[in-house]
Amino acid sequence: MNKQIRILVVEDEEAIRTGLIDVLVFHGYDVDSAATGPDGLEKALTGKFDLILLDIMLPGMDGYEICDRIRTEDRNQPIIMLTAKTSDEEIIQGLKLGADDYVPKPFSIQQLVLRIGAVLRRSQVGQEMARTLTVGGIEIDTENFRGVRDGDEIAFTKREIEVLSYLARNSDRPVSREELLLKVWGYARNLDIETRTVDIHIAKLRRKIEADNKAPELLITVRGAGYRLVAEG
Ligand code: CA
Repeated sequence: MNKQIRILVVEDEEAIRTGLIDVLVFHGYDVDSAATGPDGLEKALTGKFDLILLDIMLPGMDGYEICDRIRTEDRNQPIIMLTAKTSDEEIIQGLKLGADDYVPKPFSIQQLVLRIGAVLRRSQVGQEMARTLTVGGIEIDTENFRGVRDGDEIAFTKREIEVLSYLARNSDRPVSREELLLKVWGYARNLDIETRTVDIHIAKLRRKIEADNKAPELLITVRGAGYRLVAEG
């Protein structure tokens, strides 16, 4: 029998927390939970979870700080933020701190379960990437999410590496945002906010790899078609 997938639920509202636990247990996951920020962080850092569902507004320490602290320790830990409002600000803040995805509240169980599946799938197939990538003279170590440019170290998130790797494997053509969402995020849909998720990651990558992020020469936009990574000459 396969090892059970472990999920940590960090949510202070009891009705939501117990509802999530019931649904996840029903779907075959091994679930632990925390009702406060500090308890959630403690469990997240010590519990070896396959996925963390993280509420934002929590007593003691908010979900953004928890996400940030987890990322400092473990760049690989899959995290889905539970956002009370669908304000772009909140979503962007969570993604900037390295969350893999977000689910707006009130969420449908169906949507949540699909997103959990997508994030877990991505974290399991992440290993198929090339060990190193070279982009515009930057040597990128895809296992440790680090690059070196002119002797300076650049830190990437796991998702950024996945986006770069996918674009590098397909550098002969532009890749649409919808294709990136499907192949990198595992989404079969393309709501507006989701294609913006792709744009946010592209913007972050440009700030890291381009000499001038306002005039990209490596990660270029092909109007009406998507993004293309310019291959090494
Ligand atoms: Ca809350």
